[in-house]
Amino acid sequence: MEKIDIKSLQLDQLKEYVSSLGAKAFVAGQIYTWLHEKCVDSFDEMTNISKPLREKLKEECYITTLSIRKKQVSKDGTIKYLYQLADGNCIETVLMRYEHGNSICVSCQVGCRMGCTFCASTQHGKVRDLTASEILQQLYHTEKDIGERVSNIVMMGIGEPLDNFDNAIAFIRIISSPQGKNISQRNISLSTCGIVPKIYELAQLKLGITLSISLHATTTEKRKVTMPITNAYSVEELLKACRDYAKTTGRRISFEYTMIKGVNDTDEDALRLSQLLKGMISHVNLIPLNPVDGSAYTQSDDRAIKAFQKKLTDLHVNATIRRRLGQDISAACGQLRNENR
Ligand code: SF4
Repeated sequence: MEKIDIKSLQLDQLKEYVSSLGAKAFVAGQIYTWLHEKCVDSFDEMTNISKPLREKLKEECYITTLSIRKKQVSKDGTIKYLYQLADGNCIETVLMRYEHGNSICVSCQVGCRMGCTFCASTQHGKVRDLTASEILQQLYHTEKDIGERVSNIVMMGIGEPLDNFDNAIAFIRIISSPQGKNISQRNISLSTCGIVPKIYELAQLKLGITLSISLHATTTEKRKVTMPITNAYSVEELLKACRDYAKTTGRRISFEYTMIKGVNDTDEDALRLSQLLKGMISHVNLIPLNPVDGSAYTQSDDRAIKAFQKKLTDLHVNATIRRRLGQDISAACGQLRNENR
């Protein structure tokens, strides 16, 4: 019999499982607290659970663990972890320190199959999806390592969360549950390159998270060049799904826009962007392109980025320029890899 990945179970699933073993429902709550609040990595640490039940759990379940293969600390305090998974694959996780608290950028897949040309994570394709527990453990292990709480989560590391939909949603439900870390869904951002049917599906769940769209271009033709997902869904179809999401959830959508010199940083781009977002509750994050080995693109210069922001503001679009963190350790956007060198 295949063992159960107990850390990926949501509380109601755990209750069902525990009651199938003949234990009372409140015991499931105790186990859940051990797994997700105290974040233990072994059943023996669950001291208020009876020994026979612990033995049964050991027999039928496993607790996912990660190990730190490499840790790099940036001069700005950002930490990049290379975590090794049980099967030997590696993923990267980034811890960023802000005045308002610690923020973590988690990976959702080993590699990525979306093929965005400016992104290092996709250079070797997708190897596999991460389980909910493997996404959770990135946060739990990082908190243990730094000895501090993490209060904000961005699902913006390696992989496309909506290409691993069920596990990404299970992660959000578990990390925000009051019996676990209880991180408010308002402090969680999920970033997608724009898998349109999944955006409609996500809207129906009416989560309190922030949806973040990696837009990066203002026309379908231009976006096709850097983001192959556009061959399946045009910019217009993507924006239509975003309008539906904003209307259904009442949540503001964040649009990520990487500034690439001579590609998407003209006045016409700013004008088109303002037209695309007209009437939608939204925010634009302008991201100076971070260098990736083997990429043909260069970053728009600071003056061009500021001028682009001003143009957007003049056109009544809410836009900010993202601070660059962890660039010296390749921990910035688009620089994460599934390397294990
Ligand atoms: S930007 Fe996101 S979706 Fe695109 S290749 Fe990189 S990880 Fe995948």
